Amino acid sequence: MVKIHYSRAENYSPAVLDEALKKSVGPVLAGIGGVAGKKVMIKPNLLEYRKENDPASVHPQLLTALCRMLKDGGAAEIAVIENPAVRTADMIIKAMNIMPELECMGVKVANCAKYTKFPMPEASRYHQLELAGEFREYDLVINFAKAKTHAMMTFTGGVKNLFGLVRGSERLSWHLAVGRNFDDFADMLLDIYLLVAPQVTLLDGITGMEGNGPGSGDAVELGFLCAASDALALDASVSERLGIAGTPVLKQAARRMLIPEYCNCGEVPAARTIKLPEPPEKKLEWGVYFPVKLRKLLRGMLLSKPVVNRKMCISCGLCAQKCPPQTLKMHHGIPKFDYPGCIRCYCCQEFCPKGAITVVPSRTLTLLSMLERIIRKLNIYRPGKRR
Ligand code: SF4
Ligand code: SF4
Repeated sequence: MVKIHYSRAENYSPAVLDEALKKSVGPVLAGIGGVAGKKVMIKPNLLEYRKENDPASVHPQLLTALCRMLKDGGAAEIAVIENPAVRTADMIIKAMNIMPELECMGVKVANCAKYTKFPMPEASRYHQLELAGEFREYDLVINFAKAKTHAMMTFTGGVKNLFGLVRGSERLSWHLAVGRNFDDFADMLLDIYLLVAPQVTLLDGITGMEGNGPGSGDAVELGFLCAASDALALDASVSERLGIAGTPVLKQAARRMLIPEYCNCGEVPAARTIKLPEPPEKKLEWGVYFPVKLRKLLRGMLLSKPVVNRKMCISCGLCAQKCPPQTLKMHHGIPKFDYPGCIRCYCCQEFCPKGAITVVPSRTLTLLSMLERIIRKLNIYRPGKRR
């Protein structure tokens, strides 16, 4: 039975963090014999850091407090290794203003570099994947995630955090390869998780992100930290706490019977809900009775689509550069979407530094959803009567 260790933490002051880390990650580290004499790699979520307390990344003070805890525990070596979406790990840590403190503790900060092709343990979708191989050089890997919503995967917690080990350019090709099949993408994330098998997953849920995540959502005060030896169990537990149901990762993990039994312990936060991103695709049951061609046409019309807020756009062109199928082009300084060619991976939304791109449901989808509700209410549609 995997224990999910929760601790309450209302803010990022050093005293609060030290206490919260002791209660959350402390028991998990104790369960694997502590850190004394071990080489420890921390893989934090450092997506971006554009302003103080930016919820796109784990909090700088929490990262520092974790390193301090490991150092005090006698770790032989501590390395913070990440491959942020746009900048380097070094640049993000400098933007966070914690480099001097980390250097003082002898913590190494590095971008992922040692890319190697690894055979996948279950090879559920892909036989091999190229990943940053540094995790193989350390005795202990701490997967340090942030509680955030995600336009494509609904929630980004422990399992999704390890996608950062895929080379930046390759990440776009994977989005392209799986296209709109989010279950395939989730299976790939699970394969990566099974390969890396971090012994510890820690989640920064003190301030999380809701809405237009993972880069441009709104900060939401959640007030907890949690840690476990199993990232899937942790993601399942946190999803329950935050009212997030049916994420592709947890759905596929359940199908593959990968979620272990777990229980919550410590200062478990009360269940609540956070604002989720618009679902990328809603399924209408009666669609299954349509011919395939019509279904395909409808699918294109029904998918939620990325749109740009022209007033917020600074014409940096990053969204167009990062578009996997390269169907998004800059036109007079503003991104122009080619919706028939758009695979709805939402990379443009994820990479936009200004939060100028949001994912909105199509008008057709909104209309059909209304129609569906009416049909259900009036009890007109009875699939059983068709035969
Ligand atoms: S326009 Fe955006 S959502 Fe569409 S394929 Fe390009 S990056 Fe993905
Ligand atoms: S990434 Fe954002 S700010 Fe930059 S061009 Fe695209 S929409 Fe505009």
